[in-house]
Amino acid sequence: MQNLLQNDDTIIALATPQGVGAIGVIRLSGKEAISITNKVFKGKDLSKQESHTIHFGTIRDEDNRILDEVLISLFIAPKSFTKENVVEISCHGSNFIIKQIIQLLIRKGARPAKPGEFTKRAFMNGQFDLAQAEAVADLINADTEAAHNAALNQMRGGFSGEIKRLREELIHFASMIELELDFGEEDVEFASRDDLKELVNKLQVVVNALIQSFDLGNVIKNGVPTVIAGKPNAGKSTLLNALLNEEKAIVSDIAGTTRDFIEDEIVIGGVAFRFIDTAGLRETTDAIEKIGVERTQAKMKTASMIIYLFDLSQVDIVEMNKEINVLENTGVPFLKVGNKLDKVDDALVEKLQHQHPDMLFLTAKEPEHVEELKNRILELVNLNKFKRGDTVVTNIRHYDSLLQTKNALMNVIEGIDNQVTNDFVAMDIRQALHYLGEITGEITTDDLLANIFSKFCIGK
Ligand code: GDP
Repeated sequence: MQNLLQNDDTIIALATPQGVGAIGVIRLSGKEAISITNKVFKGKDLSKQESHTIHFGTIRDEDNRILDEVLISLFIAPKSFTKENVVEISCHGSNFIIKQIIQLLIRKGARPAKPGEFTKRAFMNGQFDLAQAEAVADLINADTEAAHNAALNQMRGGFSGEIKRLREELIHFASMIELELDFGEEDVEFASRDDLKELVNKLQVVVNALIQSFDLGNVIKNGVPTVIAGKPNAGKSTLLNALLNEEKAIVSDIAGTTRDFIEDEIVIGGVAFRFIDTAGLRETTDAIEKIGVERTQAKMKTASMIIYLFDLSQVDIVEMNKEINVLENTGVPFLKVGNKLDKVDDALVEKLQHQHPDMLFLTAKEPEHVEELKNRILELVNLNKFKRGDTVVTNIRHYDSLLQTKNALMNVIEGIDNQVTNDFVAMDIRQALHYLGEITGEITTDDLLANIFSKFCIGK
């Protein structure tokens, strides 16, 4: 661990984005953060100041040239993000000034930080666990309200608490079984197998719920992959345009002109919806007639939601029911939309409404109709669970570890049922403990940590 941390180094990086801004914040962390800054700062003697104070002064280079007027914020260990001494220098946000100051401080003994190194130090020094550290990255990258809420919840430990509790209960059983092993030949049972099975069952329920929450977590983090499908000329491009509110797709009267790969995103109610490969799906809707159902379904299954358009002016009820049947077989939530409402009379709408009470009727060309569509889209993603503040898994690494935990737990149950020897049961429990521990960082390897923190930006 020590070599990973390089605890004696004082690291430095720009904490604000690259590019010109009103101010730039340069951050140092490490034992010498204050003394190094003190060498170039003209103002109060920083080594004599209290933690959590701000000081005005100038930064001067070796020739006593003023590089900038700055504000220095001091955080004395352990009362800082990294639990080390931290200095934040707020300077004017010019690239030139920032570069000059960072280079000067490197000459005075700081070292450029690696990606994620500040957060890594915070983790290593026990500021938070690994899942929380990863949530810092998610929080920084979150650009919708839902993603922000999920990351914030995880950073505040909501997710980790649950995992830790489960793990502790399991550790208790593991130690009881290990104790039995110590007694070897003697036929003692410290850990009741019924109680163990009950705990494992309980764990399975929680682990499965977390695994299932990943679908939701994933859409919250990455957006809901949404497909707009329907026959040629049903109005898919028109609808997509209306949703995106700009002329991104090519709308034309000739069937099959939507050839461009279109991918765009809208945010509804704090959730991002990503529209995928609209042109490709136009082809696959042709395939409903030509190639058959299988390929169409395979394509649609890549989406988390399908908005399926029917052209009301061309409607053929038998054909429509066939298409709905295909949709139902995909298992993907879908929305039936009857488009070109402006072209048809009320009688047809009433008839269809009777058959399909959940069909939404609209005119894609009219912006106000799209608002209702947006409401229906949002209803289709079941966000109720998330809004209640339940734990949602958004991280693929956690998801993988949970799947492994699930397998190990299944082996524990199987082992007990088949009355395998204690050492095998103990091994399976240890496996489950290992994977659960990977999530929060009780179990880590250098590779794992390097991999996680390299995904951060420098300065985080
Ligand atoms: P796609 O092939 O499914 O992408 O269909 P388009 O979006 O290219 O639309 C085909 C034609 O139908 C275009 O001429 C559109 O202007 C027209 N269209 C689309 N939506 C409506 C609508 O709600 N009402 C009317 N009258 N025409 C529409």
